[in-house]
Amino acid sequence: MTRESMDTVTPIVIRNARLLERERPVNIRIEGGIITRISEEPLTAEGAEVYDADGGLASPPLVDPHIHLDAVLTEGFPQANMTGTLIEGIQRWSERKPYLTPDDVAGRAEEALRWHMVHGVLAIRTHVDVSDPSLTALKTLLTLRERMKPWLTLQIVAFPQDGIFCTPRGPELLEEAVRLGADAVGGIPHYEWTREDGLRDVELAFDLARRYQRAVDIHCDETDDDHSRFLETVANCTRLYHLQGRVTASHTTAMGSYNDAYAFKLLRLLARAQVHIVANPLDNIVLQGRFDTYPKRRGMTRVKELIEAGVTVAAGHDSIMDPWYPLGSGNQVFVASMLAHVGHLTGRAQLPWVWRSITEAGATVMELPKYGIREGAPASLVVFCEPTIVDVLRLMSRPRWVFSHGRLLAETVPAVSTVLWEDERLPVTFLRKDAP
Ligand SMILES: [Zn+2]
Repeated sequence: MTRESMDTVTPIVIRNARLLERERPVNIRIEGGIITRISEEPLTAEGAEVYDADGGLASPPLVDPHIHLDAVLTEGFPQANMTGTLIEGIQRWSERKPYLTPDDVAGRAEEALRWHMVHGVLAIRTHVDVSDPSLTALKTLLTLRERMKPWLTLQIVAFPQDGIFCTPRGPELLEEAVRLGADAVGGIPHYEWTREDGLRDVELAFDLARRYQRAVDIHCDETDDDHSRFLETVANCTRLYHLQGRVTASHTTAMGSYNDAYAFKLLRLLARAQVHIVANPLDNIVLQGRFDTYPKRRGMTRVKELIEAGVTVAAGHDSIMDPWYPLGSGNQVFVASMLAHVGHLTGRAQLPWVWRSITEAGATVMELPKYGIREGAPASLVVFCEPTIVDVLRLMSRPRWVFSHGRLLAETVPAVSTVLWEDERLPVTFLRKDAP
């Protein structure tokens, strides 16, 4: 796949689009891959392709800060996860791993990335299992990262799925993955065999991050065990290694089971260390709580309290049709909707946080420098049919247009619904006409 030079690209004018921070619709002019003008006044469309947004929401691209592209679309082979549990998922993945080849990994990952693109997701951080001695998936995705650059930002986390210290040559494989070019160092402390090895797991990730100047993104406390407390070590290492703003803890579901006094202390520590959190509500609402009878826990970190404490919380898709989660389609709006439901975040004051979790917060986690819709910024943006974030979250529809660096990348023709009622054909838009 190649792209022609920016000089030959036709300018674009997007008319009548709503921006989150503005009351009135705007017109947006794009030239040479850059947003050159945003105005409530009409803009000249001479020589430009014109897209009429008809009052639909224009958003910066959606962000998926946590997916496992090496495992996507593997569900069912060689055996399906019949119970849906985390433990059987890990077993099924270990049976699938011997079949990994460069073509297999690249084919599935590219397919999933196209699904993301259609949903307006143009920045993606993938974890890649580096427990495999050949590092096949890692090497394949490093190549894909370069090929995808004209369209989307792909970041790679070296992720020791089977544990660093309970895998033969685990520490060497992790370092080799970082040396080969992974953007971030991962870990899985709660999965190591002892608490002491869990602490060493976190410390090794930080040591590698410092030596190779990488970010840190650790699968941390993804369990209902309230004694799993590696997040405090992650926060403390962030402070000691001076990596504030470069560290993410993913999942952290044990936080949902901590007592309030401990959680209060931890929230302050996380905010001071500027550790980011990525919640993964799709997988965790089905994988956690499996040892509970009733009432069953939700398997969710403390999203509301973290945000109120000033911590950046983003939401990831985590899985698309893999041994842990057989559903999903790369739709981050579905992820946000699940976060709103599972996290008690449906208040009028909280729904903007939910939207932020798949946009700006994800961009903060991925340290994207030029994110947002403003004059002079790269012309990467997503136009929905619906006028508000609440309508997009409610209807979970795909964006009408996805633009990447000044060019149309993906398009979805809006569905037209009618109801035949009392000899009349009535249009149904699912939009309220008298929104307060
Ligand atoms: Zn994960």
